Amino acid sequence: MSQKEVIVVGGGLAGIRAALSLGQRGLKVSLLEKRAFLGGRAYSFQEKKTGSIVDNGQHLLMGAYSETLNLLQDLGSLDKIKPQDSLHVPYQSPKGQADLRAANLPHPLGLAWGFLSFPALKAKDKWKIAKLMRWIQKKAAKFPPRAHDKISVKRMLLESQQTERAIKVFWEPFTLATLNEKIETASSHRLIQTLQASLLKSKEASQLIFAGEGLSEVFGKPAEDILKKMGTKLFFQEQIKSLQKQKDQWEVQSQSGKKLLAPYLVLAIPPTSLVKVLEASSWQDPTLLEKLKKFKSSPILSINLWYKKLPDTKKFSALLDSPLQWVFTKAKVLHQSGRPYLSLVISADSDLTQKNKNWLVAMAQKELEKFFPQLKDIPLEHSQVIKEWEATYSGSTGLLSEAIPFQLAQGLFITGDWMHPDFPGTLESAVAMGQKTAELILKERDSSTEHT
Ligand SMILES: Cc1cc2nc3c(=O)[nH]c(=O)nc-3n(C[C@H](O)[C@H](O)[C@H](O)COP(=O)(O)OP(=O)(O)OC[C@H]3O[C@@H](n4cnc5c(N)ncnc54)[C@H](O)[C@@H]3O)c2cc1C
Repeated sequence: MSQKEVIVVGGGLAGIRAALSLGQRGLKVSLLEKRAFLGGRAYSFQEKKTGSIVDNGQHLLMGAYSETLNLLQDLGSLDKIKPQDSLHVPYQSPKGQADLRAANLPHPLGLAWGFLSFPALKAKDKWKIAKLMRWIQKKAAKFPPRAHDKISVKRMLLESQQTERAIKVFWEPFTLATLNEKIETASSHRLIQTLQASLLKSKEASQLIFAGEGLSEVFGKPAEDILKKMGTKLFFQEQIKSLQKQKDQWEVQSQSGKKLLAPYLVLAIPPTSLVKVLEASSWQDPTLLEKLKKFKSSPILSINLWYKKLPDTKKFSALLDSPLQWVFTKAKVLHQSGRPYLSLVISADSDLTQKNKNWLVAMAQKELEKFFPQLKDIPLEHSQVIKEWEATYSGSTGLLSEAIPFQLAQGLFITGDWMHPDFPGTLESAVAMGQKTAELILKERDSSTEHT
């Protein structure tokens, strides 16, 4: 058994951020990760047959991701991302294409102009969207958050008399992309908070940011290098199965039998894993377990298609009137050359995620041909389907009443994207919560050193 100051369990972005911030302040950190690499739900790999770099699912960042941008700076990865100049979302429908593009004017005029000149919406749709946006900006903040958390996005949209087209073209894709949840079940509180922090905040906060390299090159690998250089002990393929209190220290035990002991323990793992660990532990908190079990997961499905050649598709497009929600032309997203492929993304659709690979690929091909008829004559050479069943926690209504403290007991902390009180399960939530936990530990450590 070895002795450390802090044990971090989980090498996703929350765990990476916590370990890095604690290490930067001089604490001796050990990090245990169940897989063979860091990055958690944001990772990439080299696809065997084509050699292409493939993400476990396309991730988009926003200018509003200030904590993630700080982390990228610490990791030396800022040059690996590509921000848009201003918000620009191309839309594709079988009938044609339309771009939602913020104009080069001071905020919010640029965005307003973008909406005004967006041909996929009619005047009445735009008026209704503008009215609800204004309400969100001026009035929503005055209500207690819990009031909105009980109301679904769909109910908010219907109560504000959004048109069918405004819902289909704007609200539904935005909710699916940011909350990974259908409008029928998504919490309007999380949508309101997301809009306030992004589109309604500033031109910079509204920009979309692409990872120009595989996600592991941007996050996991540089984090591993920096943590090692800082002296953090990294233990891979160590799944923690239980924890127990040993006088004033915490001990974790892994499936392989490894035991570590430290006064501070950070569990940076999702609620489903946390429940398993806590149920197998001598330290128990039944109320907490009950709350954790209320967190459900929402899937993201990615269908990657390698055609013999590609028509001139845009870098990415939102797809209307199709079960496919987004298409990304990966050669235009990633800096690396390599065989071009299309990545299709479908969020929060458990029914489709359940279908088998052949069915999904055939469906995707048929759908894509409606948008790009040229594809009918181009052979599909390779395909791959990635199903992330637990892509994010489900940002459905009612979760705020389950507020859970970061500190469960003296020295015992939990963190992760799902701990964010306002934002959905995103990279930014994970990094922000990891940072917050590190700050809580540092504060506690500083106050205990003051008293000794
Ligand atoms: C397909 C997909 C697309 C996404 N798209 C976007 C997007 O466009 N924009 C965006 O902002 N976010 C997106 N996300 C969400 C984002 O990836 C997550 O919110 C974020 O990565 C969560 O980080 P985390 O550290 O909280 O959790 P995780 O990444 O889940 O990290 C937890 C870590 O703990 C490890 N672990 C679990 N249990 C144990 C145990 N018992 N012992 C040891 N280790 C354990 C896991 O292996 C994992 O590495 C997407 C996610 C997916 C899957």
